[in-house]
Amino acid sequence: MTADKNKQFITFCGNSIKVPNNPNIPFIQGDGIGPDIWQASVKVFNAAVKKAYKGKREIQWQEVYAGEKAYNKFGEWLPQDTIDAFKKYIVGIKGPLTTPVGGGIRSLNVALRKSLDLYACIRPIKWFLGVPSPVKQPQDLNVVIFRENTEGIYTGIEFENGTADTEQLKDILRELFPNEFAKMRFPDSSGFSLKLISREGTERIMRAAINYAIKNNRKTITIVHKGNIMKFTDGAFCKWAYNLAEREFSNKVYTRNQWNRTKTEKSVDAANEEQELSLKAGELLIKDVIADIAFQQTLTRPKDFDVIVTTNLNGDYLSDALAAQVGGVGISPGGNINFETGMAIFEACHGTAPKYANKNVVNPSSLILSGELMLRYLGWDQAADLIIKGLGGAIKSKKVTYDFHRLMDNGIKVTTNEFGDEVINNM
Ligand code: NAD
Repeated sequence: MTADKNKQFITFCGNSIKVPNNPNIPFIQGDGIGPDIWQASVKVFNAAVKKAYKGKREIQWQEVYAGEKAYNKFGEWLPQDTIDAFKKYIVGIKGPLTTPVGGGIRSLNVALRKSLDLYACIRPIKWFLGVPSPVKQPQDLNVVIFRENTEGIYTGIEFENGTADTEQLKDILRELFPNEFAKMRFPDSSGFSLKLISREGTERIMRAAINYAIKNNRKTITIVHKGNIMKFTDGAFCKWAYNLAEREFSNKVYTRNQWNRTKTEKSVDAANEEQELSLKAGELLIKDVIADIAFQQTLTRPKDFDVIVTTNLNGDYLSDALAAQVGGVGISPGGNINFETGMAIFEACHGTAPKYANKNVVNPSSLILSGELMLRYLGWDQAADLIIKGLGGAIKSKKVTYDFHRLMDNGIKVTTNEFGDEVINNM
């Protein structure tokens, strides 16, 4: 209690966060390469804030524990104190965490997102001039993915083959749903997983994506789904997402509804094609695409995509696939947000890369850009802009970590820590 007296808290009032000049922000360094990238990143965050606000604002960093460090210190992978700290301070940031092998928690990241109900995973994917890329025109891709973070196949309701629970589940299916049971090719040796997609879950991620798109002057939202096969989960996601757009944003959106289209909708469709070319400020075109072709079209027609809204597993695959086009997960940031509570955790998108741990060689850009996202979320845009400028400048000067260096002509290889300094030098 006494310790709290000297702290400044971010608060959430109604629909936005209120940020004091010296907010306390919890961070998890992370496992493996986590400490390497954190040390390089935190000095970039501090330098950007100092330069932008000339000492008037400063973040009070507060370390909290999860993963191996927490396990070694407290015997727990994800202590309740850590979850409570994120709830109390509202906004936080983290490095990558090891997934404990065998029993207990399935994934620390999933557990953290679930306990705070951080339903929107936001992944902006944009190319920085000079970053080595496997495609010819990486500058054509500039998308923001809104991945639903709490449902789909990630609910963790699974039944292992051979267990008593699974046998019981099969008995129920056999008795109550014989036609469905008959569809199983090898029921004796199958494991089961439940995929859940709800209307509320769909509507809140779609609402978040539309609000983001309008605020950031984006022109289209593409719903990516596999509703042609999974009609009552992905198909329902698509339908509910369109309905929400039409119901809550009717004066701002045009929908090109390819799902369950009728003749009348087809003519609306043609009108919308026209509309796409002449959308006024604040207007959006909502369209949808089946997930498999989305992977092709984001490569062959990247300019057709702007904001993407999708289910949990689709979003997981698509965000890493698209990140590859602009330089890989080493430079891809992420944020997990609940827009109804204001709670948010920003995080590096890659894993712990254990073979590079404590070598001071990996690329800290993913965490640096996650911090940039966090600063923007706080409304500290000038500091965020400085980070973009600094990172762009560092890459342009070709002073880069090993992952970019090996793919670049005439690059200069620097350490993780030195790359952080280069970003600061270029602000
Ligand atoms: P990984 O992302 O840790 O590493 C795969 C490879 O990507 C590395 O070997 C390295 O070549 C490259 N790489 C990753 N980050 C890099 C960086 N910053 N700079 C340069 N190169 C980089 O994936 P993995 O090996 O599949 O997973 C290792 C552990 O991380 C597992 O325990 C996994 O569960 C966990 N994981 C955690 C998160 C998270 O915390 N958000 C995400 C993914 C994986």
